[in-house]
Parts: sequence; C-alpha cells; structure tokens
Amino acid sequence: MSLIELANVGIQKLQPYVPGKSEADIQRELGLTEVIKLASNENPLGPSEKVKQAVTSALSDAHRYPDGAAVLLRDQVAALHQKESIKAEQITFGNGSSEILDLALRVFVGEGDEVIFSDHAFALYPLLTQASGATARPIPALPVESPMPYGHDLAGFLSAITKKTRLIFIANPNNPTGTWLNKDALYKFIQQVPENIIIVLDEAYYDYATSLENDYPNASAWLNEFPNLIVTRTFSKAYGLASFRVGYGLSSIEIADLMNRIRPPFNVNAYGQAAAIAALADSDYMQKSIEQNKRGLQALQVACNKLGLSYLPSAANFITIDFGVDAEKINNALLLDGVIVRSNAGYNLPTTLRVSIGTDTENQRFIDAITQHRTLFGK
Ligand SMILES: *Cc1c(COP(=O)(O)O)cnc(C)c1O
Repeated sequence: MSLIELANVGIQKLQPYVPGKSEADIQRELGLTEVIKLASNENPLGPSEKVKQAVTSALSDAHRYPDGAAVLLRDQVAALHQKESIKAEQITFGNGSSEILDLALRVFVGEGDEVIFSDHAFALYPLLTQASGATARPIPALPVESPMPYGHDLAGFLSAITKKTRLIFIANPNNPTGTWLNKDALYKFIQQVPENIIIVLDEAYYDYATSLENDYPNASAWLNEFPNLIVTRTFSKAYGLASFRVGYGLSSIEIADLMNRIRPPFNVNAYGQAAAIAALADSDYMQKSIEQNKRGLQALQVACNKLGLSYLPSAANFITIDFGVDAEKINNALLLDGVIVRSNAGYNLPTTLRVSIGTDTENQRFIDAITQHRTLFGK
C-alpha cells in the first residue's frame, strides 16, 4: 500500500511552495559574510520600535492562549476601515493573508469546480487550488507590448467563466509582475462577474500601491455593494511584520461567518496581534516605509534605464527586470556577490528576476552588482 495513494487527489501531485533563500542559507552555502536579501518583498527598515516594545510586553502572558477573536486588533482594523463603513464582523483574521486565500477555497470550492487566475500570478493560487481538488483555469496574461505587460487580462477572465467557475483570484498589484488594475477596469469587471462566483482580491501591497498610483482602487469601499467579494490585506509587507504572520480578509458578514467556521481558533498568536496593533498606531513608520520604497523603486528604474534594461511597471515594493537572456546566470552571479534576489523561472518568466526594494545602501549594492555583470546580459 502506498501512502501517497491515501492522500487527497489534489495533494498527490502537489509541489511544495519554495520560499526565497535566506541570508543565513547563502552565508552558509557560499561562506559569505556580507549578504543582502532583496528576495521576499519584506520591509527593509526592519520592525518599528513600537512593535518591539509591544511584543516584549506581551511576553509576560506567554502561558495564556491568545484571544481567538482578536477583539482589540479587530477594533483597530475596523477603525482603519471606518471610512469604507466596514463593520468588525466583516473582518476575518488569518495566519498571514495566505490563510485567508486558503479559507476562501475551503469554504467555497471542491472537486469538479473551476478556479480562475492569471498566468504569472502569485504562486499560492495554483498551489492552493490544486490542493482543494478543483481545476485551475489559468488565463494568458496581457502581451508584453501592452501598457501593462504580463498584467491580468480581465476580458480573458470573463470569457473563461463557465457554470463550473466557483472562485476568481486577482492580485492587485500582482506578484511577481508588479502590474496593477486601475479603478474603472476593476470595478467594471467585478460588476460583470455573476454573483454566485467568489472574487478574492489580494491587496497584499495596498499601502505601497496607493502611494505610487493615483488610479489604484480602494476596493474595500465596494464590499457593501458586492457580497461575493473578499479583499485580503496583510501586515507582512509595508507594516514590516512578515515573521508574525498576520493578515485579514474583508467581506460580507455572511462570508466572514463561513470562513470563521473553519478557521483554526487560535490561528493568529498573541505576539502577532500585539505587533499588528502597535504597527497600526505607528504612522511615522508607515510614512518612512512608503518614502523609502518610492525612492528605492525610482533609483532601480533609473539604473535600469542607464543600463538599457527593460522592466515591468510596478505599484509594489519590488521590480521585475527583464535581462533578455536566461536570468539564472545573472541570479547565480549575484548570489556569489552575496546579493539574493528572486528567480522568476517558476513563474514562467525565465529572462527576468524580481528584486525587492531595499534600503538605499542595499539598492546601490544591487545596482553596482548588475552594472559589474553587464556583459552577462550583453550591455
Ligand atoms: C506577500 C504576498 C501575500 C502575503 O502573504 P502573507 O501570508 O500575508 O505573508 C499575499 N499575496 C501576495 C500576492 C503576496 O505577494
């Protein structure tokens, strides 16, 4: 008897998600000391001092279970979304927003159903869809010549809808492309999707996007109009709390209630809750993070222009650069220099690398490294 045959069908052929390499991995593997990581779209400023203090104080209650309903955090998140008239009961907390993506699939999707998302979209969509036993319907991305190269083709999404379609994933902006959908296009799309199809709108980079693009929508303002919409947000990126694993979904009360039925009761731990509350109150940190990102993104774009390298438009804290040749050799050369970026080979974008925006020093180090290796991409 093979244990693999006992596993659920969707899980039998699943390849696990491979995260970016850590600084420690590269230090160990290559014996390097000065390593920088621009590979996982983390906030380069490190955690805010207020977060560190809040988490330290929370240690004295380490023997207690966390608040399973995250009441204090819920109130603060509801306050953040007050202008969109969102009630506390419309919020579902997850162990990172990734967990909300999974909860949505587990509530609404099963074997025989179809799930729609774009080619080159966030890696968890195909992975979680396959695990659910449903069939993935990847939609070809917009052509590279379009104003939003490799972006989501919403017309393509609409024409792929069938009776079996149960859920649609949209990343706005998308990882790893950085491309985004503007307000009009996204709103019109949601209006045209039948009400019995759940739309999961992943806004992991919301704070960056809204600071970079004027026509970037705040879709949480549409929730009371579309009961089939779930908007996800995270504390992992601009708030600088990736290790704490806190994210949330905003939806109709009905959807929040359904997701809550299968949510593990203590999925967001006490330190994550304390950290998120402190982060929400630290507007200086958010301001600095957004400024750092704007400046860094611009510096990398200027450097690419100088080198004659093309890159995808980005409304996030990373940039996907197209080297026009197999990017693995550039990735390897950078690793030997102690600069970790993300390969996009698994995203079927093999001539590109995704580079997270770092501190000014880190960005300059990346720029110096690619300038030094310019013959590898014929520049
Ligand atoms: C980083 C990221 C997330 C966030 O994941 P968490 O589980 O909240 O850390 C979600 N969606 C996309 C597209 C991302 O890039």
